[in-house]
Amino acid sequence: MTEVFTGTFTQQEPIPEEGIAAALDVMRHGRLHRYNTAKDEVAEVALLEEEFAASVGAPYCLAVASGGYALATALRACGVGAGEPVLTNAFTLAPVPGAIASVGAVPVFVGVTEDLTLDLDDLTDKLGQARVLMLSHMRGHLCDMDRLMTLCDAAGVVVIEDCAHTMGATWNGTPSGRFGRFGCYSTQTYKHINSGEGGLLVSDDAEAMARAIVLSGSYMLFDRHRAAPPAKVFAEIKYQTPNISGRMDNLRAAILRPQLRDLPLQAERWNARYAVLAEGLRNLPGLELPHRPAAEGFVASSFQFLLLDRPASEVQGFLAACAARGVELKWFGGAEPAGFTSRYDSWRYVTASPMPATDRILAGTIDMRLPLTFSEEDCATIARILRDEIMRLR
Ligand SMILES: *Cc1c(COP(=O)(O)O)cnc(C)c1O
Repeated sequence: MTEVFTGTFTQQEPIPEEGIAAALDVMRHGRLHRYNTAKDEVAEVALLEEEFAASVGAPYCLAVASGGYALATALRACGVGAGEPVLTNAFTLAPVPGAIASVGAVPVFVGVTEDLTLDLDDLTDKLGQARVLMLSHMRGHLCDMDRLMTLCDAAGVVVIEDCAHTMGATWNGTPSGRFGRFGCYSTQTYKHINSGEGGLLVSDDAEAMARAIVLSGSYMLFDRHRAAPPAKVFAEIKYQTPNISGRMDNLRAAILRPQLRDLPLQAERWNARYAVLAEGLRNLPGLELPHRPAAEGFVASSFQFLLLDRPASEVQGFLAACAARGVELKWFGGAEPAGFTSRYDSWRYVTASPMPATDRILAGTIDMRLPLTFSEEDCATIARILRDEIMRLR
């Protein structure tokens, strides 16, 4: 008997009832714009910012229209301009180099290790080439953040963190997004909290956050924020900073607030599913699981493994066999970008030097979504199918 999995890899959980009720309230009163408030009313967006800031221990938070917008705003608020090189991961998703390109800056790619984290030796070699590193915690894998910050601080390189896959994650107890000048998050449907589209930025830097707030389209209404720097910080910034509208609205904030409250519980549920998969694929010759150091408090909303140094045809055969049994995998080694799996050499608006060590790793990198609509039993089924198909490979 050949076991087949019948679950759907793209099915989300419903929005919590409390979020649905709050969204209905917003629709009934009609004040969807974050600055459209009744007397003494605090907008849902301002409350979300305050709660998110508290959840990561940041003084300042700004909610915006998307994760990509958050990244571009962070770059602008750090003064990155046209023609400037910006270091970033060769292994990430398209919104990251896209945010860099959107401000006219030029991505300079840094390689990936077998643990799917930024290659800090390659970074060391390239630190002299840029003033800013946009670090993507791609697929939820955190590099050694202590070493990274020591390297970047010594070189005077500003770090902006892309936490699209690490909302709720930590390194040595410090939340991801709290190491760099900005932490940027996405609330798009496939991330850790879901408003369809949306983004958040956090920072300790009052001036940089004031610039981000004005950039996002606050007009002169920044005093309606709560997790914002004091009004005096805006004194010059409000004249000097262009408005590039990208605000979040109250409807999205209303559905995000209860999800944010539930995030620690959701993280546990994701990690329980991850543990079932990891256990099911343990000690399988030819398959590597990225090492997860004790310092890394991860949130496993996706699962990766490596089939290294095999011919592409063999990997393709494996993917097809898994697909035939209902297990939908994505491959970062394909010659053509497909779905969300593009790679540094598919972003041809950037002139990138060849990266053979990174190419070897991407050629073996397989990715699977891990929606919370899967049960732990589902994950055990998937693990059995993967194991079975890997054993057939040789
Ligand atoms: C989704 C994502 C983003 C940006 O998010 P959007 O909200 O879709 O703009 C940034 N980085 C990575 C790695 C992502 O997966």
